[in-house]
Amino acid sequence: MIILGIETSCDETAAAVVTSDKRILSNIVSSQLKEHTPFGGVVPEIAARSHLHHIDFIVEKALKDASVSLQDLDGIAATGGPGLIGGVIVGVMMAKGMAMATNLPFLPINHLEAHALTVRLTHAVEFPYLLLLVSGGHCQFLIAEDVGKYTYLGGTLDDALGECLDKTARLLGQPYPGGPFIERMALRGNPHAFAFPHPLKGQKGCSFSFSGLKTAARKVILEHNTGSLPFCEDFCASFQKVIGEILQDRCRHALAVALEKFPSLKTLVVAGGVAANQYFKAQLTLCAREKEVDVVSPPIDLCTDNGAMIAWAGVEWLKKGARGDLDFAPRPRWPLAEKD
Ligand code: AMP
Ligand code: MG
Repeated sequence: MIILGIETSCDETAAAVVTSDKRILSNIVSSQLKEHTPFGGVVPEIAARSHLHHIDFIVEKALKDASVSLQDLDGIAATGGPGLIGGVIVGVMMAKGMAMATNLPFLPINHLEAHALTVRLTHAVEFPYLLLLVSGGHCQFLIAEDVGKYTYLGGTLDDALGECLDKTARLLGQPYPGGPFIERMALRGNPHAFAFPHPLKGQKGCSFSFSGLKTAARKVILEHNTGSLPFCEDFCASFQKVIGEILQDRCRHALAVALEKFPSLKTLVVAGGVAANQYFKAQLTLCAREKEVDVVSPPIDLCTDNGAMIAWAGVEWLKKGARGDLDFAPRPRWPLAEKD
């Protein structure tokens, strides 16, 4: 089975061709970062126009690099939401048009589900598994029970973790995305230099809250920032350390809930752009080992938005017998699981 996947939900125009035997034949990602940088964030109207401008070329290149023609495909998948509506419409209409012209099934994919399933493309991970989705826009624990079957355990009450990292790095004068900068700086800093609050520590449940931490970080920067490298390194090391503690605390709760429901659960999957952070991964691994649970992440280029994850979700749905749905309407909001 060979599937084309198209991703246009935020600021990457991406397309990829993936097979059901887990080969990524092509994976083209065109970032709009430069177009949005002057505005300090993603501008939806600019994003939509840019997707429209690039989509033909990106899809053509994905097919060409994979050395497949439309006749070789078994389905066309596109992100159907959640995301910025203008971009989602571009990808969905492109995929629907191609599906109509070729008589192939059109598979609308939930972007969050694609993040959740990517690990099954890159690793042999069986259901059920615990999933921590941490990105610029999301921060939540879910149990992935099957394709299309997820239980929401808890998520952020305010900011996503990536957002908290990006906004804090911005106060240090760093452009988006700030997460990698904080990780790099933290390597040489003193993690005990500054004390930060630990929101929700010890509280039951799997919720996160980062707005208080963000405000505390702002205060430290306003009071102590001398613009020197040592300050920056110490600040980032202390800031990263407290986030590591928060992740561990929440992870313990989430694992307890997940293991109670599925005692045989063996894997914690960490997905989304923040999963690139090695320090956070190490902290989560320590915590998961206490329960003999392995921590697995897709490779970094498949953790951030890409077409291969959409194509793979299309494979999983087709294997489950999905028939395609040309009547699908793009969904700017599309929760992966109803909250318990
Ligand atoms: P996504 O929303 O999945 O596209 O991922 C982008 C988010 O991941 C941004 O908030 C980045 O700051 C964050 N991110 C990327 N690399 C790292 C890293 N090494 N450490 C922490 N956050 C990161
Ligand atoms: Mg994403």
